[in-house]
Amino acid sequence: MTERSIDQIVSPVPTSDGAGVKIKRAIGTPTLDHLDPFLLLDLFGSEDGADYIAGFPDHPHRGFETVTYMLEGKMRHRDNAGNEGLLGSGGAQWMTAGRGLVHSEMPEQTDGLMKGFQLWVNLPASQKMIAPRYQDINPEEIPVKELDGIGTLKVIAGELFGVIGPVSEIATKPLFIDLDLKPDQEIDIPIAQGKTAFMFIFEGTIHVDGETVETDRLVILEDGDQVSVKAGLNGGRFILLAANPINEPIARYGPFVMNTQEEIYQAFDDFRAGKF
Ligand code: FE
Repeated sequence: MTERSIDQIVSPVPTSDGAGVKIKRAIGTPTLDHLDPFLLLDLFGSEDGADYIAGFPDHPHRGFETVTYMLEGKMRHRDNAGNEGLLGSGGAQWMTAGRGLVHSEMPEQTDGLMKGFQLWVNLPASQKMIAPRYQDINPEEIPVKELDGIGTLKVIAGELFGVIGPVSEIATKPLFIDLDLKPDQEIDIPIAQGKTAFMFIFEGTIHVDGETVETDRLVILEDGDQVSVKAGLNGGRFILLAANPINEPIARYGPFVMNTQEEIYQAFDDFRAGKF
């Protein structure tokens, strides 16, 4: 096995999005524009309603996929085609925006902890204009495996240790796991060679490749077959994403991610003309 070493450890940048929701952005910043095929990674997390109550009112997307993983809290989504759903603690949504939709994502609570991730995953040119598709995953649909004495594994997409996640038929063949390791426990996680992979540590600390990684850090991994992770003395919990790079040109403007500038202009025209 070839061990995946650390390429880079990134501290997320505090910013705000939507109508003023406070977030920490780890991918999609001036220093880390993208990590093919990942276009954006935000962590939202606050116990103060003022930090998130404004939510994400109506906005468009075209050309990629948005993935929401709720750790705590409730968020309701509605789109202009009449789709609606409530995302609760431990649930996930994989939305393939394709040729476009306009939606809102609004908190269904005014105080208390709201915490989770939003990830954007690119689509290859051949799928940028497909019909929008939702995969709304209730918390109980996400398989949980207790790793004896080591920790708790949830698989949202892909397969690990024989556990298969509910999200299916995604262009970049992603693995998406949430792994909560007990104090001082170690594990080797196989990740197929050639996939772009990162971890985001959101509780405790972990040790990887001789480095100690603190809470709220993104770890970008080099290529290889597996990553060996050891939790710190208070345990460590992280998400790990791995997916096939797309290797195509990226033209990006806000909520539109296409291959060329012309396609971005077209997205604006179509959006203004109400064609989403
Ligand atoms: Fe959105």
